[in-house]
Amino acid sequence: MPPNPDCIFCKIIAGRAEASFLFREAKVAAFLDVFPWLPGHTLVVPRRHVTGLAELTPDLGGHMLAAGRRVAAALRLGIPGCEGVNFFLADGAVAGQTVFHCHLHVLPRAAADGFGIRRPAVRPPSREELEAQATRLRTSLPAPRRAAARR
Ligand code: 5GP
Ligand code: ZN
Repeated sequence: MPPNPDCIFCKIIAGRAEASFLFREAKVAAFLDVFPWLPGHTLVVPRRHVTGLAELTPDLGGHMLAAGRRVAAALRLGIPGCEGVNFFLADGAVAGQTVFHCHLHVLPRAAADGFGIRRPAVRPPSREELEAQATRLRTSLPAPRRAAARR
């Protein structure tokens, strides 16, 4: 997709809005979140405007993951007390996505940092229920994308 003039991340990547960058590469960029959940909270963002996972090619997803790994290494070294890292990606409003330009949150974790994921209490399914669910999901799987579809 072409840059979206209303998209804040497209503006940042085009240099039309400010951000504090860790790096810019050919396909992805990493900059600090302006409303950090934790100090050092970094966003890895594709340069192309893709709204969510469905539009992400395996190639671009690979670049995002590789960039996220670089950021994670920097956080472990550069953020005092950082002993672990969470990746978080919200795909869709109901999943918490607020900026509809796909991005990976990279979060430096420290002991007692107060960050957590609230999980509802779900009854553990039986083996049969798990198998029935896996069968249903297998029929919903899209075909793997071929390398030729790389962009
Ligand atoms: P989402 O809620 O879509 O998963 O994450 C969007 C993230 O973008 C939020 O954590 C929010 O703080 C961040 N964000 C929103 N506007 C800006 C901005 O103008 N600059 C930067 N650096 N981050 C932003
Ligand atoms: Zn965008």
